[in-house]
Amino acid sequence: MKIATYWHAGTRHVGRLSADGSTLTPLMAGEQARDIGALALIEGMARGLPLPAEAGDPVPLASVTLDAPLPRPRRNIFCVGKNYHEHAREFARSGFDTSLAKPGDDIPSHPIIFSKVPDAVIGPGCAIRIPAGVSEAIDYEAELAVVIGRGGRGIPASQAMAHVWGYTIINDVTARDWQQRHKQWLLGKSFDTFCPMGPWLVTSDELNGGDVRVRCWVNDELRQDGRTSDLIFDIPTLIETISTAITLHPGDLISTGTPVGVGIGFNPPRYLQAGDRVRIEIDGIGVLENPVERS
Ligand code: MG
Repeated sequence: MKIATYWHAGTRHVGRLSADGSTLTPLMAGEQARDIGALALIEGMARGLPLPAEAGDPVPLASVTLDAPLPRPRRNIFCVGKNYHEHAREFARSGFDTSLAKPGDDIPSHPIIFSKVPDAVIGPGCAIRIPAGVSEAIDYEAELAVVIGRGGRGIPASQAMAHVWGYTIINDVTARDWQQRHKQWLLGKSFDTFCPMGPWLVTSDELNGGDVRVRCWVNDELRQDGRTSDLIFDIPTLIETISTAITLHPGDLISTGTPVGVGIGFNPPRYLQAGDRVRIEIDGIGVLENPVERS
C-alpha cells in the first residue's frame, strides 16, 4: 500500500495510491491532515484503528500536487552518518569529516546518529534553496527513510522490523561548510528546505527495506547507485540503537544514510547550483525530484 499526502482543489488530503499508480483515493483524515498529513493515519493505526475509510472518488495522480507524506513530523528526523563503506571513505578523504578523531576512524564502530529539524521538510517538486551569501557548498544525499509504526523503548534488533510501518525517500541536503565549521551537524543539515521527502509512503509488507536500490541523478548525470544491503548498520541495528536511548513514537523517521557519490566525493567538489534538478529513485517506492534555486 502506498499512502500520499497531496493538495487537490485547494485542500490537503491523505489518500491511497491505486495499484497501477494512476489515481489517488482520499481517505477520511479529518482536520489534522491539513497540518500533519499521513501522520494522523499512522498514529491511529498504532492505537489499533483500521485504515481510515475512503472519503471520495479517486482522482488522477496527474491532477494533484504531492506534498511530503509527513509534512510536519512531531520531532526531529533521526539520521545516520557514514553508513555505507564507500561513502564513509569519500567523506574522510574530502576533509569535511570533523568526526574523525584519528586515522582509521573513517568506518564507524557504532552508528553515528544526528538529526534534522522538522521545519526543513519539503515535498516533491519544491525547491531546495541555496542560501545566498550564507553557503554555496550545498550537497545532496539520497537515502531510504524508515517510518516507525509501533513505538517503543529498548526494541531488540530481532523484533525491530515489527515496529516499521513503512518507507519513503529523503534527500539529506547538507551545507558542507556549516557541517564542517560548526562540528555538530544539526545546523548544516537543517536549513529551511534541506529535507525533501516523498513521493509517498510504502508499507513494509510491500518493500524489503533491507535490500533496495538507491539512485540519485543531478540533472541527467547518475551520481549515486547503491543498495541498502550494503549498509554498515542495518535497519534493525539502527532501531535497536536509537530505542535503547530514546523512546520511539509512531511516525518517527530514521533516514538510513547515503551511498557513495555525493558532491564532496569529487575533486574539486561538485555542489548543487541554481537550475539543477536532483532526482532520487528507490526501487519499489518511486521518484523524489526537486529543483534547486537561489533564495
Ligand atoms: Mg545523510
